[in-house]
Amino acid sequence: MGDATKIKVAVSGALGRMGQATCEAVRQDDGLVLAAVVDPGFADALESGSAGPTAGAERFATLDDALATGGIDVVVDFTTPAVVRDNVLLSIRRLTPMVVGTTGLSESDMAEVAEQALEHGVPVLVAPNFAMGAVLMMQFAREAARNMKACEIVELHHEGKLDAPSGTSKLTRSLIEKSWRGLGLDREVPIHSVRLPGLVAHQEVIFGGLGETLTIRHDSLSRESFMPGVIMAVKRVCTLQGLVVGLENIL
Ligand code: NAP
Repeated sequence: MGDATKIKVAVSGALGRMGQATCEAVRQDDGLVLAAVVDPGFADALESGSAGPTAGAERFATLDDALATGGIDVVVDFTTPAVVRDNVLLSIRRLTPMVVGTTGLSESDMAEVAEQALEHGVPVLVAPNFAMGAVLMMQFAREAARNMKACEIVELHHEGKLDAPSGTSKLTRSLIEKSWRGLGLDREVPIHSVRLPGLVAHQEVIFGGLGETLTIRHDSLSRESFMPGVIMAVKRVCTLQGLVVGLENIL
C-alpha cells in the first residue's frame, strides 16, 4: 500500500508505556503510518534520538503543534487523566477524529465531549479497555447480573496507574447496575482498587448467591493485549458519529 492511501496517525503520550506500544503497533501495520508523536518529553533535547518505537515520525511537545500541521487523520491518546479532556476538545476543534484510551474522564467531561463531537461532526471513540477478553468479561458480567443480584468488583493494576477506580471497573459497574435497574433493582456495585508492582491490568467481577459465588476474571499480562483493539479502533473511528464509548461498539 502506498503511503498516500495509509491512515496518518498521531500518538499522543508517545513516550509513555501505552504510547510506546501503540507507536510500535502502528508502525507494524501496513494500512497505517506513524505521522506524528506527541509528548512533553520531546521538548527535551535528550529525547531527540532516532531509535525506538517513535523513530521516523515527526516529534512534537504539544498536540496543538502536531495538529497545526494539518497532516493527521486520526489521533490516539494515551496520556494522563489531567490532560485528556483538553486533548480531546482540542482534537475536536481541529476536526480530527480521536481514539481515546486514557481513563479518568468524568461524567461531565464525557457529556461535554459528546456535545462538542456532535456539534463539530467529529467522531471520538473512548474505550476504557482495548483488550478483547476485557470486552467479553463485561458482556458476561452484564449477562450474569440478570440472574445474580449481589456483586463486587476488584480491579488490580500496576502501581504507576494514576486514576482509581479504573475506567474498566466503572464501565463494568454501570453495565451491571443498568441490568439490575431493568429488573427493578436499585443497587450499587462496590469497587475495590489494588495498586501493586508486578501487576499490569486485571479485574475480578464477583457475584454472590445462595451458597455459591461466580467469579469472572480478566488478566492483561502485557500491553500487547490492547494493541489489536487499538489498531481496529484507528481504522474504524472515521465511520462513527459523535462520541462512542466502548470497543464493543465497533466489533
Ligand atoms: P504513562 O506511562 O504515564 O504515559 C503517559 C504519557 O503521556 C507520559 O509520557 C506523559 O509525559 C505524557 N503526557 C503528559 N501530558 C501530555 C500531553 N499534554 N500531551 C501528550 N502527552 C502527555 O501512562 P500509561 O501507563 O501509558 O497509561 C496512559 C493512560 O492509558 C492511562 O490513563 C491508563 O489508565 C490508560 N490505559 C488504558 C488502556 C485501555 O485499554 N484503554 C490500557 C492501559 C492503560 P510525562 O511523563 O512527562 O507527564
